Amino acid sequence: MNTDARTTGPRADAAESVPLLGGCLCGAVRYELAAPVSALVACYCADCRRATGTAASINARVPASAFRLVRGTPRVFTRAADSGRLLERHFCADCGSPIITRHADDTRQLILKVGSLDRQEGMTLAASIWTASAAPWAWVDRDQPCFPAGRPAPTA
Ligand SMILES: [Zn+2]
Ligand SMILES: [Zn+2]
Repeated sequence: MNTDARTTGPRADAAESVPLLGGCLCGAVRYELAAPVSALVACYCADCRRATGTAASINARVPASAFRLVRGTPRVFTRAADSGRLLERHFCADCGSPIITRHADDTRQLILKVGSLDRQEGMTLAASIWTASAAPWAWVDRDQPCFPAGRPAPTA
């Protein structure tokens, strides 16, 4: 893993040039992520649809230890997910942008809302979950693995 951004150059894939930078729409919340982002997963569950106002939430699992807030503190909304596990949704209290989610029973991992990253180059979708809950108008990439419900194992 390359941790020196000076050697990656401006054209390096965002997926590989750490730390990655991101934040909310209004800029009140900013973070650094000292881990590469890969294996994006689209979640089509009803809660993600409502929380994002669109077809799916595009997520990446990252180690919690790699995530560091550098400005602001997201507001947290907690509710039982379709999996039955309590899920915390961390979002900007000023502009509403989703930043991360986290299972209350697993503090080692965060689920990054990939759209909050400043750069998206080189990132691709690896799987879709909760596709049985997808809206009838949602486009689902059937060329990638699709899981009607949650993913069987916490990979990615
Ligand atoms: Zn904001
Ligand atoms: Zn979801």
